[in-house]
Amino acid sequence: MMKAAVWHGRYDIRVEQVPEPSPGPREVKVEVAWCGISGTDVHEYESGPIMIAAHGPHPLTGKRAPIVMGHELSGRVAELGSGVESVSVGDRVAANSIISCGTCRACLSGFPNVCEVGALIGLSSDGAFARFVCLPEQTLYRLPDALDLAHAALLEPMSTGVRAIRRARLQAGERIAVIGGGTIGMGVLQAGLALGASDVLLIEPVAQRRVIGERLGARAIDPQDTEALAAEASQVDVVASCVSPSQTAALGIELLRVHGRLVIVGLSLESALLDLNRLLVGEREILGTAGRVHRDDFPTLASLMMRGVVDAEAMITTRIALDDIVHKGFEAMRREKETHLKILVDPSA
Ligand SMILES: [Zn+2]
Repeated sequence: MMKAAVWHGRYDIRVEQVPEPSPGPREVKVEVAWCGISGTDVHEYESGPIMIAAHGPHPLTGKRAPIVMGHELSGRVAELGSGVESVSVGDRVAANSIISCGTCRACLSGFPNVCEVGALIGLSSDGAFARFVCLPEQTLYRLPDALDLAHAALLEPMSTGVRAIRRARLQAGERIAVIGGGTIGMGVLQAGLALGASDVLLIEPVAQRRVIGERLGARAIDPQDTEALAAEASQVDVVASCVSPSQTAALGIELLRVHGRLVIVGLSLESALLDLNRLLVGEREILGTAGRVHRDDFPTLASLMMRGVVDAEAMITTRIALDDIVHKGFEAMRREKETHLKILVDPSA
């Protein structure tokens, strides 16, 4: 048996004993070093089930809640299932949270991130808020020796930013606005600067997050400051809507220049009413980005982290033990937004 943080229902995550998993064919058992609490995890805690498999078994994994949460992980390979060839016991790894079928049109065209039946680690299969997790071999990325394991746990959320910047077809010298300064927004901000943006504007209500954004090289404004926002209208080439796009996409469209692109990065819980004439006049675009293609985005981000161009350490505000995950993790993320950006959990502590 081992200790794990298990989602049973809304406001009902329990640290309890579960059986230690053993790897099936083409699966790898990983001893978790660090696992971050994601915004999605907090949504599932306070408003779930949203993406968690609660109403029946997930078609790809066959798994349903109660489910061990946690999908932003790094660790070491502990055991190999049959047929695993790409990693060895002892290798340091991170994982893409997206589990894909390998046979649908999206998977066959090289984009498992938009797999038609895709599953997510820690939401539709048991995750990494536990000492061990068993993961499909296809989700793993072998870490460069120089990359710190805590920083490697940030590859999953921050690579969403790399993918968003690629989807937006950012050109050198273009201006970006990021709406929402959580880990993913900060990932877009840093990837944008690293990949050629001349100016990044962070729009974020929490003062401490604006301070972090400025330290990372952005200009930051409070969305309550309507005068400052109005001055940015029609000034931006790429807007990334990283928080509640249903509520922020309208602002995003306002900010776009002619030929600007609005990228939907965050999850919406409701629909939005948008001024589509802004798209017609000015040939502006709205596009979506889903997670990451880790074959491409993990190595790019790992390299930027190791060169110090992307600062993973600046994202980490707290490190906690698994036993404290509800009180010092989920509750802290909900109530103390001024203090917390990324909370990393050490499942062995
Ligand atoms: Zn597929």
